[in-house]
Amino acid sequence: MSVAKLTPMLRQYLDIKQEYPDHILLFRMGDFYEMFFEDAERASKILDIALTSRSKGTESPIPLCGVPHHALTQYLAKLIRANQKVAICDQMEDPRFAKGIVKRAVTRVVTPGVVIEAEELDEKANNYLMAICPGESTFGFCLTDLSTGEFRLGQTDSLDALVDEMVRAEPAELIFPQSVQGDERVPRLIAALPGRFINYLEDRAFDTTAAREELAKQFDNYRADESDHQFETALGAAGAALYYLRLTQKRDLTHLRRLSIDRADSFLVLDEAAKRNLELTANLRDGGRKNTLIEVLDQTRTAMGARLLRRWICYPLCRVDAIEERLDAVAEGVRLTSDREALTDAMATIHDLERLAGRIGLASCNARDLIALRNSLRQLPEMKAALGAFANALFARLTGELDLLEDVRDLLEQSIDDDPPLALRDGGLLKSGYHAEVDELRRIAHKGRGVIAEIEEAERKRTGIANLRIRYNSVFGYYIEITKSNLHLAPADYHRKQTLVNAERFITPQLKELEEKILTAQDRVKELEYDLFVELRQRVAQEVRRIQNSARVVAWIDVLTCFARLAEQRGYCRPTISDDDVIDIRDGRHPVVEVAFTEERFVPNDCLLDTRDNRLLLITGPNMAGKSTYIRQVALITIIAQMGCFVPASSCRLGLVDRVFTRVGAADNLARGQSTFMVEMTETADILKSATRRSLIVLDEVGRGTSTFDGLSIAWAVAEYIHEAERIGARTLFATHYHELTDLARTKPGVVNYNIAVKEWNDQILFLRKIVPGATSRSYGIQVARLAGLPEAVIARAKEVLANLEKAEFDEVGHVRLAETNRERKQKRTGQLNLFAPPVSPLEEEIRALDVAGLTPLEALTILSRLQEKLK
Ligand code: ADP
Ligand code: MG
Repeated sequence: MSVAKLTPMLRQYLDIKQEYPDHILLFRMGDFYEMFFEDAERASKILDIALTSRSKGTESPIPLCGVPHHALTQYLAKLIRANQKVAICDQMEDPRFAKGIVKRAVTRVVTPGVVIEAEELDEKANNYLMAICPGESTFGFCLTDLSTGEFRLGQTDSLDALVDEMVRAEPAELIFPQSVQGDERVPRLIAALPGRFINYLEDRAFDTTAAREELAKQFDNYRADESDHQFETALGAAGAALYYLRLTQKRDLTHLRRLSIDRADSFLVLDEAAKRNLELTANLRDGGRKNTLIEVLDQTRTAMGARLLRRWICYPLCRVDAIEERLDAVAEGVRLTSDREALTDAMATIHDLERLAGRIGLASCNARDLIALRNSLRQLPEMKAALGAFANALFARLTGELDLLEDVRDLLEQSIDDDPPLALRDGGLLKSGYHAEVDELRRIAHKGRGVIAEIEEAERKRTGIANLRIRYNSVFGYYIEITKSNLHLAPADYHRKQTLVNAERFITPQLKELEEKILTAQDRVKELEYDLFVELRQRVAQEVRRIQNSARVVAWIDVLTCFARLAEQRGYCRPTISDDDVIDIRDGRHPVVEVAFTEERFVPNDCLLDTRDNRLLLITGPNMAGKSTYIRQVALITIIAQMGCFVPASSCRLGLVDRVFTRVGAADNLARGQSTFMVEMTETADILKSATRRSLIVLDEVGRGTSTFDGLSIAWAVAEYIHEAERIGARTLFATHYHELTDLARTKPGVVNYNIAVKEWNDQILFLRKIVPGATSRSYGIQVARLAGLPEAVIARAKEVLANLEKAEFDEVGHVRLAETNRERKQKRTGQLNLFAPPVSPLEEEIRALDVAGLTPLEALTILSRLQEKLK
C-alpha cells in the first residue's frame, strides 16, 4: 500500500502510530475509538468485537475495529488484562471548529502498572509499578502506586533480598534498564513473579544525577543535596519510575508528593517461601484469598484500611517500641468497646479517599467522584468526635493529624449536584445557587420551555385543533404537528417542514426565535458547567495532599480498630514483645484453622523456644496428627505479634524475630509443578545461607522429597547445622515423620523432642491434637490409612509387611523379606532356616574378639589400620 494514496486522516494516524509501534493505538474519531491494521486484528480478537475494513472493495482494504468512547474503560481493562500496552489518542480540538483535519495527540499510555480506573483495580490491594536498578553490589528498587500516589524506594544488597521485596509487593509491572536484558541475574527476577508485565527503558532513565533533580522537583519532602549516596541505585530506580509515570501520563502528577525510603532493618523479613507456605495473602490451593491469614484478619471497613492491613501483613515490624505503640492503641480499642464501634460505624461509608485523591490529582475524576469525596468528608467530624475518647499516644497523634477538610467539603456541598451524571459535557453537574450565570441560563431554557407550552395552548385556541402539538427533535428543533384530518384548519402563516403518513409538521417564525434562545441557553450552560467543573476539580486538586493525609489517618484507625475487634471477638491476647530470645506461647491457636474448619474444636497448644536449651524442637507424630498446623501457628503468631496485633493465644512472650523461614518437604508442594525436590533443597540452602540467630525457622518434613535414607540423612545434617550456635543457632521447629531424628536430642543440647499425642484404641487411633514432650517411636501410618478407608484386606497385609520390616527379616540375598506371609514363615521354621544365612566375616569375628577397654589408644590405632588394610 503506498502512503500517497492515504487520506490525510490516515496519514495523521500513521504519524502517531509510528511513535507507539508496540502499543495498541486507540484513535478517537467522533464517538468512537478506532483501531487499524494489525492493532485492529489483535484487538478485535481480545475484545471479541467485529473486525471490518475501510475502503472495502479496493485493492488494499484497511482492517478496522472500534469501541464507543463512553465504554472505553471496560475495553481498556480487557486489553490490559491481555497484557497489551495501550496508547489513547484523543481529539485535541472541537471537530465543529476545526479547520481541516482535527488535531489529535496521545493523551495517556496505559500499561498494567499505571492503571487508575477504579473498575480495573482491586480495592483491597495496591497496584504497584516496580522499577529495578541493578548496581555493582546493590539493587535499587522503587515501588509506586499511581492510583494512590504512593512512592517509595529501597535498596537491597543481594539478589535474594530483591526477590523477597518483589514477592512482598507483587507489582503489576516491572521496569528494568535496557542494558540488563542479557544479564544472567534478570531471568531469576522475572521467574519470581511469573506473568508480570515487563518494560525495558533506556539506561539514561536510571541516571541518578537527573533523578535527584527530578525527584526534588516532584516531591515536597526530598532535597537533592541530602547525603544520599548510599541510596545510589535506589535513586536510579526512583528516577526511572518517575520518568515512566510522566511518559505515560503526560500531565501533572499532582498527587505524587511524598517520597519515602524503606529501611530494610525496620521490618521482619519474610521471604518468598515463607509468604507462600504460611498462606499469608494467597492460599496454596488456587492462589485465592480463601483460608489465608489476610482473610481471617481483614475486618477493615475501608479500602485504604484493607490495603494497609495487607501492607502490615507483608511487612511486620522489627522494633520493640514501634510494635508496642500499635499494641497500646489496640489495647485501648479493646477497652473502649462502644467508642470503638462508633468510630467503626463512622468509617463504614468512607470511600476510597486515596484513589479519589489520585484521580483528582490526575484530572481524571468525574462529578460522581467528587460526590463520593464529599460524602466521605461528611464522616470525618463524626470520626473525630468518637476519637475524643481515645487518649493513647498513637490515637492522639492520629487524631491530631486528621484534617477534616471542611473548606473542601463546604465547596463541594455548595457546588456539585447531589446526583450528577457520569458525563461531564451534558450539564446537570452543578447545584442551583452555586453560579449566577448557570442559574440564569437554566432559567431561560426552562422559561422558554414554559413559553412553548403557552404557545401550544394559544395555537390550539386560534386554530381550533384540539390535538395540535408542539414537539422537538434534533433535526428541525421545535415544530408544530397537525394530524391529516385537521390539516384544512392550518393557518396560512405556518411553514410546512415535513409530511408524514398521518401528520404534517410546521414551523413559525415565533417558534424559531424562541428555539434559538432555548438552545443557545442550553448549549451555553453545558459548556459553562463543564468549565466550572474543571475549575472546581483544580481547586480540589490543590488540596490533594491534605486529602491523602486524612486518608492515611483513616487507614491506620481502620486497621487498629479492626485489631481491637479481632481481639475481642476471637479472644486474642496482647503479646509481650522484648529483645530477648524467648518465644513462650500458651494455648496458641492457628488463626486460620481455628475459624475455617469447625467440625472439630481447635485444641490449643503451648510452645517454648529460646536460643539455648529449647533451640530446635523436633515434632514427631503420625500423619494428620497436627504437626504442620502446630509449627505454622507458631510462625503466624510471631508475625501477627510483630504486626502490632493481639494474637490467638492465652499468653505470649515474644523475643523479636528478624526473619521467618518456612520450608515444606517436597510432597506437600506438588501443586507447584516444579522439580519439587530441587526446589525444596534450593530453599533449604537459602535458609542455611541467610538465617541468623534471631530468625525463626519452620521446617516441615524437609527431606521427604527423596528416598528414605537420603532424606533422613539430609534432614539430620540440616538440623545439626541449624542447631550449632557457631553456625546459626536459630529458634527452629522441625516437624518430621522420620522418628529416627529424635535421636538428635541425645547428643545435641538444644534439641528437644515433642510429639503430638494420639490414643490407640482397638487398633484404631484417635488424634488428641495435644503436643507433649518426648519422642514417638512409631508412625501409625497403617492406622491412618485405615481411617482413610483403605480396604481391611490391604490393612491386614500392610501389617504383615510392617512386622517383617520391623523384625528386619532378610531373604537369601540380604533384602528385607517383604513378600513373606505368616503362613510361609511357619512352613520355613521346619528346618532349612540357616541354610542361606550369610557367612560370618573374619573381620567381624576379629572385631568382636577385641577387648576394647584394655587397649591403649596407640594399639587401637594400629589395629584399626590393620583392619583397613585387610579391607583393601
Ligand atoms: P500433620 O502435619 O501432622 O500431618 P496437619 O497439621 O496437616 O497434620 O493436621 C491435619 C488436620 O488436623 C488439619 O487439617 C486440621 O483440620 C486438624 N488439626 C490440626 N491441628 C489441630 C488442632 N490443634 N485442633 C484441632 N484440629 C487440628
Ligand atoms: Mg504435615
